[in-house]
Amino acid sequence: MSIEVKNAFKYYGEQAALNDVSFKINSGEIVGFLGPNGAGKSTMMKIITCFIPKSAGSVEVCGLDVEKDSIAVRRKVGYLPEHNPLYLDMYVKEYLGFVAGIYGLKNKKERVAEMIEMVGLQKEQNKKIGALSKGYRQRVGLAQAIIHEPEVLILDEPTSGLDPNQLVDIRQLILNIGKTKTVMLSTHIMQEVEAICDRVIIIKEGKIVADDTAKHIQQKDEVKQTVLVEFDQEVSRNQLRQIVGVKSVKQIEGNKWIFTGEGDIRPAIAKFSQQNSVLVLAMSIAEKSMEEVFKELTGN
Ligand code: ADP
Ligand code: MG
Repeated sequence: MSIEVKNAFKYYGEQAALNDVSFKINSGEIVGFLGPNGAGKSTMMKIITCFIPKSAGSVEVCGLDVEKDSIAVRRKVGYLPEHNPLYLDMYVKEYLGFVAGIYGLKNKKERVAEMIEMVGLQKEQNKKIGALSKGYRQRVGLAQAIIHEPEVLILDEPTSGLDPNQLVDIRQLILNIGKTKTVMLSTHIMQEVEAICDRVIIIKEGKIVADDTAKHIQQKDEVKQTVLVEFDQEVSRNQLRQIVGVKSVKQIEGNKWIFTGEGDIRPAIAKFSQQNSVLVLAMSIAEKSMEEVFKELTGN
């Protein structure tokens, strides 16, 4: 197990930013940590990376306690904070050399060169960090996070504020780096999760509301499904409303109807048609986008 959080709480004064949070992340997984602003994502990540203490519960990284074994945990974890504080007056190479020094790496020069190559900073390596675009600054941030070869990478909103091209590049880079590491990345962009994550943990107001693959979360019972049906004849709205699981029916034109219901209501609609000798000419379920699923689960 790479990360194991059990019944974690974090209070800022009276306010519980984390309220009984538990989850596990297996070695090699890329997990998306999703939630609206203020949900507790950064707080959880700061605890995992030993930057702030939890109020209660247990948090382990590679079997090591984040408080009792914090030095060992820091060696195993690479962290890209949300608003990555870079030294804008330092040169890219100089900065990465400085970070390598903090970790006491022996082969500093080689390691810095490897990092520059890995994150695609060759052309920018002799520039000041302050002269780089946001996308390239994030590359510096990623290089700094992996320079000591951590097993676990914690990336707090690594793509926020990037333009569409930079976004694609950084995602690809995370996917490449993630091939050999455990990655937990926070985001509020759903497509990001679909693009790179094996699993999604959704947090709302300090509580976990979903923890599954994106596909399974889309099919959750709490998530309303929309089904489009065309019958061969007129049917009454009242009859349709009585189908098990149906929450709403809307006639769009002629004999075409839109149903919403809990879970997959297609079998119930098929049964209805059979029992009432009505033919179904077409029926399709509208796949929910992760965006819609997220809105339903977090009430935003
Ligand atoms: P997210 O990263 O999901 O946007 P955060 O973990 O930053 O959420 O914040 C969770 C909650 O804790 C928010 O309500 C936020 O205002 C509060 N919070 C975060 N950091 C502090 C702090 N240092 N002092 C007081 N409240 C904080
Ligand atoms: Mg945050």
